[in-house]
Amino acid sequence: MNSFQYVSPHTVDNAVSLVTDHGRFLAGGIDVLGEMKECIASPKLLVNVKDLPATRDITAGSASWTIGANVTISKIQDHAELKRVFPGLQQAAAEVGSPQIRNVATVGGNLAQHSRCWYYRHRDIQCLKRGGNTCYAREGENKYHSLFTGNPCISPVVSNLAIALAALDAKVIVRRGKDEAALTIPDFYAKAWDNPEAHHSLGPTDLILRVQIPDDGRTSAYKQISEKASFDWALVSCAAAAKVDGSKLSKVRVVLGAVAPVPYQVQAAHEFLEGKELNDNVATRASQIILKDAVPLEANGYKVPIAQALIRRTLKQLVG
Ligand SMILES: Cc1cc2nc3c(=O)[nH]c(=O)nc-3n(C[C@H](O)[C@H](O)[C@H](O)COP(=O)(O)OP(=O)(O)OC[C@H]3O[C@@H](n4cnc5c(N)ncnc54)[C@H](O)[C@@H]3O)c2cc1C
Ligand code: SF4
Repeated sequence: MNSFQYVSPHTVDNAVSLVTDHGRFLAGGIDVLGEMKECIASPKLLVNVKDLPATRDITAGSASWTIGANVTISKIQDHAELKRVFPGLQQAAAEVGSPQIRNVATVGGNLAQHSRCWYYRHRDIQCLKRGGNTCYAREGENKYHSLFTGNPCISPVVSNLAIALAALDAKVIVRRGKDEAALTIPDFYAKAWDNPEAHHSLGPTDLILRVQIPDDGRTSAYKQISEKASFDWALVSCAAAAKVDGSKLSKVRVVLGAVAPVPYQVQAAHEFLEGKELNDNVATRASQIILKDAVPLEANGYKVPIAQALIRRTLKQLVG
């Protein structure tokens, strides 16, 4: 273990000024401490963000809800009113890891977590994402990897919350320099689409403060398929949100997880679904539009039919 310093600031200004390029923010620690134990990361300083004010509450407003960066995933899972208003977000939270992980892991940490690619997580492998010059998964073991990417790295985004929040058109409020920036979920991950070394679009001193979710009368749903019934990552996940009138959909979003370095959505599918009565044919056609540009690798082609089935099932869950 490399030695490091630990600080626990009580203001956002202090947290941001302390972290610099050599430190890392520490929330629940599930991800960052794992990287340190595996010698994948060796920050000189850990800046505990859990004592920052106003970051642990879920607040319902008339037009939008606010969820603090340090709200735990179990708090989202157990919040009865949130479950009623944003069922897809509650379902996504309930599928994260295990109860022990959900009790500790935070919203900010879940969104900013790093790749789970097994080459990236191997202490002795310096792949593209860790500054090397080879993606070992492309010609190697790529069973869990992406169907879509804009760069040579094929490691997919694995945050459950990101997929549900993308469907809900949430914004992540980030302290960036002296200002606050409101990033859509596509903005939050855009850099990971283009840049093999990026996990998301945050710089080292960007601090997530809270997430804002519009309460616009849409309902939502989330489904995933994993190899194990519990305590397992999604092979593929799907979140959807829409205004539902009988079986007629409007303001639709459908988002896939674990198939791209970003929460994956296709505008043409949203346009196709707008104003349609949902039935088997419509759901199937939407799933075909979304998977149209998939580029399966040697071992992950099975994700295409799973994603199509999940899209159909998630859309059907929306209409009840
Ligand atoms: C066995 C196992 C199974 C798992 N299964 C799932 C799963 O099914 N679905 C899923 O979504 N996740 C899963 N996870 C991942 C887990 O949910 C994340 O590791 C966890 O949510 C990270 O949250 P944390 O608070 O512990 O973050 P930390 O480990 O403290 O931080 C994670 C990253 O976020 C940064 N960070 C933390 N807070 C902030 C902030 N406020 N602003 C900016 N950056 C910040 C840290 O610097 C670090 O880079 C699993 C993890 C394990 C170990
Ligand atoms: S998929 Fe990305 S993280 Fe995995 S080996 Fe390739 S470059 Fe590294």
